[in-house]
Amino acid sequence: MEKVITIDGPAGVGKSTTAKGVAEALQWQYIDTGAMYRAMALAATQAGIDPSNGEEVLPVLERTDIELYPTLPVRIKLNGSEVTKEIRSAEVSEASSKISVHGFVRRKLVELQQELGRKQPSVLEGRDTGTVVFPNAGLKIFLDASVEERAARRLRDYRKAGKEIALEKIVEELRIRDQRDRTRKESPLVPADDAVILMTDGMSLCEQIDKVMMIVRERFGIGDHS
Ligand code: C5P
Repeated sequence: MEKVITIDGPAGVGKSTTAKGVAEALQWQYIDTGAMYRAMALAATQAGIDPSNGEEVLPVLERTDIELYPTLPVRIKLNGSEVTKEIRSAEVSEASSKISVHGFVRRKLVELQQELGRKQPSVLEGRDTGTVVFPNAGLKIFLDASVEERAARRLRDYRKAGKEIALEKIVEELRIRDQRDRTRKESPLVPADDAVILMTDGMSLCEQIDKVMMIVRERFGIGDHS
């Protein structure tokens, strides 16, 4: 069985925390595919182009080199410079959702993700990792939660970071990004037919990781630290 676990789902569902927790427990690689789309979006922002415009994005993509280190903590380089922090801004979040609709962007990044994931047992996190990147993954998880629940979690994260943002604004942003991810032509956000779907409303992140680890142990016949 392919030693690959894919964790997909909409924005704000706790994919990162869950995927990192699982990768850490198993000592497997952690591949944050969203970070790659974010780095590509940062390249577009730095070039001053519109990430929705394919004709403008293509030449930028051709001169863009993205290196993701599949370790924890995650590190990512854009054309040789570390951009690990820069890719987390609100502007880049919005641009990454726009740039990820282009098939030629997806093909380049999917290739990088497959190359990394074939080297070592891996946990991948994203939107299409179970449907497109590793369709033969040993385990596919699809995390989901209502937009209200996801917005409330985001709000708590912002508050912890000392930022104050209105709940309604977060709900609105999540809705827009979800809509774009779910309805795009190329690799839309959908659970793979053979994915385990977990509705996480009312679950804490710890419970979420525990639940996924239970499924991992059953599927691969391995323990927390093997
Ligand atoms: O997961 P994260 O929020 O970092 O991803 C940023 C954006 O990249 C998402 O809003 C989504 O549009 C895009 N993405 C994607 N496919 C992936 C991972 C991320 O389209 N596998």
